[in-house]
Amino acid sequence: MHKNHNKQKILIVDDTKINLAILTDVLKDDYVVVTANSGEQALDIIFSDTLPDIILLDVVMTGISGYDVCKKLKDTPLTKNIPIIFITGKISVEDETYGFKLGAVDYISKPFSPVIVKARVNTHAELKKHRDYLESISYLDGLTGVFNRRKFDEYLWEQLNYCFNTNRKLSLMIFDIDHFKAYNDLYGHEEGDQCLKKIASMTSEYTCEKKGLLARYGGEEFASIFVGDSNEEVFEIAENIRKKIYDSKIPNENSLVEPFVTVSIGIASVIPTQETSCKSMIESADKQLYLAKKTGRNKICMI
Ligand code: GH3
Ligand code: MG
Ligand code: MG
Repeated sequence: MHKNHNKQKILIVDDTKINLAILTDVLKDDYVVVTANSGEQALDIIFSDTLPDIILLDVVMTGISGYDVCKKLKDTPLTKNIPIIFITGKISVEDETYGFKLGAVDYISKPFSPVIVKARVNTHAELKKHRDYLESISYLDGLTGVFNRRKFDEYLWEQLNYCFNTNRKLSLMIFDIDHFKAYNDLYGHEEGDQCLKKIASMTSEYTCEKKGLLARYGGEEFASIFVGDSNEEVFEIAENIRKKIYDSKIPNENSLVEPFVTVSIGIASVIPTQETSCKSMIESADKQLYLAKKTGRNKICMI
């Protein structure tokens, strides 16, 4: 049923039907192929669906030219890394040089050989796959496997903008293990690492289920980000996380709260305004976390 699940997606843009047909035919067994017969249609498809892994782009078309489509994609953060291969009848050295200058990864002249097009597409598709993989692991925390601080920072910034533009509520939850120094002192650092892994795996699935993003924010601190949930909903999620950890009764004999691992949680929940920044959101959640620590730990404070 999910035959196409792992296939990369290629967008072919050409205003000549027969070219689209030939290229589709040669690529369709190995890729999910999507076609557009103009620059306008190509941009529509790119910005309204999952991004293509590679774009095969004709240059001379009525309406927006391939060069202009390329420029637009390279100027947009979301699309600037999609490899573009020009496939065109403009075959002078100057044309080709210009195409590469715009950021294309390859330049194929018409009339083209379908076999050579396929070979070149395969090469760039393979490179893209490796790059995607490296990017995905660069966003993960090595110890716990949840997202890392880098991903957290990027995601918070993106969602802050999204919530500002759409007038939605953005919630940031920071949770910190109580008396974790005592845990390490009693059981050793290696056990401490195991405890962090347990906490991460216990909470990541639940956070995902609630459409949030969980990251390891610092040493024994985790953070999650939620978009569009009410204060009550976010508080309930936090309470479920607190309880999940509490109920698992991981021993921490020297904790001054309970003889097992507990967490304190600080939450900042706002509809962003001009004044809201990632920094202000973090400071605000941190302040609530500090309050939770100061007033007994194993609890949630929220603003
Ligand atoms: P509080 O309840 O106020 O949060 O007390 P705490 O002891 O948890 O806080 P403190 O900041 O004093 O100590 C944090 C401890 O977390 C100390 C540090 O060794 C430990 N820690 C941070 N990162 C790691 C890690 O990656 N592995 C292990 N095992 N311990 C870590
Ligand atoms: Mg702590
Ligand atoms: Mg801490």
